[in-house]
Amino acid sequence: MRRITALLWDIDGTLLDFIAAERIGIRKTFAEYRLGECTDEMLSDYDRINAKHWEMLERGECTKHETMTHRFVEFFALYGLDADPEAFNDTYQRHLPETIVFCPHAWETVQALRREYRQFCVTNGNLPVQQRKLRDSGLDTVFGHCFISDEVGAEKPSLAFFNVVLSAIGCAPEEALVIGDSLSSDILGANQSNIPCVWYNPSGKPIKGDVHADYEIRDLGELPDLLKRIQ
Ligand SMILES: [Mg+2]
Repeated sequence: MRRITALLWDIDGTLLDFIAAERIGIRKTFAEYRLGECTDEMLSDYDRINAKHWEMLERGECTKHETMTHRFVEFFALYGLDADPEAFNDTYQRHLPETIVFCPHAWETVQALRREYRQFCVTNGNLPVQQRKLRDSGLDTVFGHCFISDEVGAEKPSLAFFNVVLSAIGCAPEEALVIGDSLSSDILGANQSNIPCVWYNPSGKPIKGDVHADYEIRDLGELPDLLKRIQ
């Protein structure tokens, strides 16, 4: 086996706690639009609806713009809220990067691995939102380059996305390692591209779908030891 030299990190839900930041962003936008209280129950419904629309995007069933707007169309319909989904989404996108919440041990782990590995980010998010998050979190100082789908012109899990990444960093698939929380985007994408992968599974969910996680961790702090073991 060839030695792993490049780590390809997912951002949302892997290095940054997107759900925590998302909840703060939605509540701020609710206040701005005078929509009343956004309860925990409403946020759980939003999480479910949002995940469904992102999965549709990953399956190529809708565009990025439709994902962004339709999730709020469905959410507002569920609660009978009167707001323009497109305008609401624009405001929300502005609030979203204002809050940075790291996943446990994320910062320590990327710092600990800096000397031995080249590290890159591979993310499907919206370009200005992701760029700002990377800058405000300081993660942009860790990564050699940030591959953001809007800029790459393809989304995870497509082969096209990972081909662009591998050729840009000059790396064979087996010399890279994808680390991500999403089975349908990170792990499936790694499988399709023959890149080894680590599934970050903090809540210990069962694996589902036609995917294969080479390694699984519950905490990012396990990664340096895992890398020593498998090299
Ligand atoms: Mg993720």
